[in-house]
Amino acid sequence: MKAEDEKYCVECGKLINIKAEVCPYCGVRQPIFYANQPFQQQNNTFQDDRWLPALLFCFFLGPFGAHRFYLGQIGTAVIQLLTLGGCGIWYLIDLIMIIVGKYKDADGNYIKSPVNNN
Ligand SMILES: [Zn+2]
Repeated sequence: MKAEDEKYCVECGKLINIKAEVCPYCGVRQPIFYANQPFQQQNNTFQDDRWLPALLFCFFLGPFGAHRFYLGQIGTAVIQLLTLGGCGIWYLIDLIMIIVGKYKDADGNYIKSPVNNN
């Protein structure tokens, strides 16, 4: 088990003192701050970096389903393309949904909006 004052050696993986600059087992120098660096957050809960591109795609190229292509919703994107954005109404609904953060991607995850965090 890893204790608070221990870290894993980047080379051999053995538990060593968190302040150790060189691993006593393999002699490999440890990167500075390696143990203290927090894991990069996978999901930013405040903003979705796809939001602005999706919004711009929908705004300018919505009738061609560009935002749906961008978000991986190829099936409905093609339908939208063929119907020119659902006769100009469907893509407007998508645009509003993106703006208010209620739009879902192909995996069912909301494209979170900085305008309306919820
Ligand atoms: Zn080592």
